[in-house]
Amino acid sequence: MALKPGVVSGEDYIALVNACKDGGYALAAVNCVGTNSVNAVMEAAAKNNSDIIIQFSNGGAQFYAGQGMEDSFQAKVLGAVSAAQHVHLLAEHYGICAVLHTDHANRKLVPWVDALIDHSEAHYKAHGRPLYTSHMLDLSEEDIDDNLGECARVLARMAKLDMSLEIELGITGGEEDGVGHDIDENADSSHLYTQPEDVLKAYELLTPIGHFSVAASFGNVHGVYKPGNVQLRPEILRNSQSLVREQHNTAENPLNLVFHGGSGSEKAKISEALTYGVFKMNIDTDTQFAFSNAIGKYVDDNAKAFKYQIDPEDGTPYKKQYDPRKCLRAAEQGFVTRLDEAIADLGSTGRSLAR
Ligand SMILES: [Zn+2]
Repeated sequence: MALKPGVVSGEDYIALVNACKDGGYALAAVNCVGTNSVNAVMEAAAKNNSDIIIQFSNGGAQFYAGQGMEDSFQAKVLGAVSAAQHVHLLAEHYGICAVLHTDHANRKLVPWVDALIDHSEAHYKAHGRPLYTSHMLDLSEEDIDDNLGECARVLARMAKLDMSLEIELGITGGEEDGVGHDIDENADSSHLYTQPEDVLKAYELLTPIGHFSVAASFGNVHGVYKPGNVQLRPEILRNSQSLVREQHNTAENPLNLVFHGGSGSEKAKISEALTYGVFKMNIDTDTQFAFSNAIGKYVDDNAKAFKYQIDPEDGTPYKKQYDPRKCLRAAEQGFVTRLDEAIADLGSTGRSLAR
């Protein structure tokens, strides 16, 4: 299997997802907020000869457009468009395949996703392919029929443009960019685990419409917390796959599964999840920390350059140290180093399909 380097969609995306599942590896899906993080992701993918997923939350997209933009809805849409155009232009020159995706959209953010699909329609007319490979809808707070009904509507729009939809069943603990759920450690945690019957329902409704993937909850949590009473139970993924396989007589692992909240997860549980058809693992918290940690080190090592242009005692000029490229490059390198590890954990090192 060989694909052209650059942004993949449609048949090529499906081939990539299947290659991951057949090969027992997964792609890192990295939340980005600007060119520093996007370029660091492409650099890490090229360095590790791995394909990669570049994704934006609504807040990340807004930040990409700039915090000074007054209309925040417009900023969320145009920031995501601008980011996608950046990746379309550059990814092929890094020599890897990149998937463009947007992260959690709850009910309030469905108009954001619809507006981005409008942009993909225009892009499809002009270039024969969508702007984004896929979007996510997270209506897991709603009842299953409302959740799936809206997913079906949106997927019907996207399927015409060779796009894929990620849905969420069950609740990923923790909050990400204003979407999500704080963890009440005393509450019953059963809602943190996806019910295989719900996954079966999704499979039956959505399969005839188009390509989709499922963020299933198996005790995964956004962010890094002290070890609590929520246990990672990847066997929930296995049980969902088995139920669909038995009911519909499919091949092994019929579902395309997504692992949210990969930051801070035990490596053994990540490896186990990969055997159950997980092709994508989201990483945000750990790469955020790696970025900021590297800036912190740089500032510590060059403290005077952040206070004075010229040393008040000996007249040394600090221009070379306070040039923002210096601390931002340190941040990019920290980000890349953390991704080296994530890509290795997911088994995707050296497995790029780009030729
Ligand atoms: Zn998530």
